[in-house]
Amino acid sequence: MIETDEFTNVFKAIAIRAASAVPVSEDDYTDESGLLICGKCRTPKQCRPFPDCDAAVFCLCKCMADADNEMAERRHQEQIAQRRTFCFGGSDLSGASFAADDGRNPELTACCRSFAERITAKGNDWLLLWGGCGTGKSYMAACIANAALCADMTARFVTVPEVEQMLWRERDKAAVYDEMQSVGLLVIDDFGCERKTEYMDEIKFNLIDGRLRSGKPCVLTTNLTMNDFSAPKDLAMKRIVSRLFERLTTFQVQGEDRRFAALRDRAGRIISR
Ligand SMILES: [Zn+2]
Repeated sequence: MIETDEFTNVFKAIAIRAASAVPVSEDDYTDESGLLICGKCRTPKQCRPFPDCDAAVFCLCKCMADADNEMAERRHQEQIAQRRTFCFGGSDLSGASFAADDGRNPELTACCRSFAERITAKGNDWLLLWGGCGTGKSYMAACIANAALCADMTARFVTVPEVEQMLWRERDKAAVYDEMQSVGLLVIDDFGCERKTEYMDEIKFNLIDGRLRSGKPCVLTTNLTMNDFSAPKDLAMKRIVSRLFERLTTFQVQGEDRRFAALRDRAGRIISR
């Protein structure tokens, strides 16, 4: 067993060596108790581990601690940026955020915000945004994905044809599905707009089925109507829909086509000149 005195001596030896490793600047000075003080922020660069210990150990002064925190925050933001690139690929929607939302559809925004809050608090909800073209469904789904990324989740924003492309490129098909299942949030944009083939139906079913098994959240956007879902035209769609509606909350996105409205506004401005 080590005696108390022996322990203190060993500790002092370590402390003296550690003290010599303190980065000293020209402006630094020693206070009345013999501790090194940073000349820049005037907070200690040394502290005593015990009140009666004459050796001091290195500690971070305020400006060093601030620089450390800043560096950690920069690394964190870089990690989010990398995840964002991975999530959206080259999509314009990578910059979508609730903060930048134009507020034209407050009910939709509220629904998506509350969904984002639930999933970032470890919820495993599913949301289907359905409605006409250009009503802002994809933008809102991208806002949810970005909220998830900012909450340190991983996310993927894909369409079924993009998954088909990945499966075509990758030799290991199972790895593609594994990724779609393991990612923190999966967004499937424009669900149902892909060409109708047996192979596409199989991809859709595998995506939905795998994702449900993973017990993780998912967002889908679609131009299909509730009629398309409630009365599926074929057996393949029936199989997908019956699986899909086990967990789904639906929200009908109404409003005019924003792309058309923007075009009309621009044309109106040109005519009134
Ligand atoms: Zn300092």
